[in-house]
Amino acid sequence: MDLRITIVPVGKIDPSEVEAAAVRLARILNKAVTLRQVTPVPKAGDDPARGQHVAGPFLAELRGQLPRLPVAKIVGTVAAPDPTGTPAAATADAAVFVTDVDLYKPQTDGVFGDIDTASHVAVISVRRLREPFYRRKADPVKARTRLVKLALYVLGRARGLPECTDRACALFTTTSLPDIDMKPEKYCASCWRRMTTGAYRI
Ligand SMILES: [Zn+2]
Repeated sequence: MDLRITIVPVGKIDPSEVEAAAVRLARILNKAVTLRQVTPVPKAGDDPARGQHVAGPFLAELRGQLPRLPVAKIVGTVAAPDPTGTPAAATADAAVFVTDVDLYKPQTDGVFGDIDTASHVAVISVRRLREPFYRRKADPVKARTRLVKLALYVLGRARGLPECTDRACALFTTTSLPDIDMKPEKYCASCWRRMTTGAYRI
């Protein structure tokens, strides 16, 4: 079964930063990854007093826009033409929005992102993946690696996979930066199988 993954840059984030992560994802998954054109930061969830957006409404508004967002580029393995004639990029099994806007959920200071399992979409904020957020020197390579690992996590969850108990799996629980840093950029064998066969698809 093919696995169609879409990545969408949101707001002022540098599209080349998102593309670099998409290329890496395509290599890890051995699948083509579709990049959509940059879309503006949605109004939904805006909380000017906190300088953040509420993750749930933010993701819901983006999800509604997804079918209309034009394809910018397809990176990685180019998929064979679909015999039904549907353009490969028109549909997605999972989509991830990547923004530099800081997100939070009620009762939190901030979150790395949010997942809508029913719609197979997720959002990641790179704000808390960047060293300067913690008053440390910028490290773009580290930030990109974190983005790739978090993308593997949210893609799995968006496809309906549960968290994994294997610490050496991208689907191991992710609540803090050390959780992300200690994980490898890959799934364990069992999550890989579920991910690529769609065994957990809802
Ligand atoms: Zn696993």
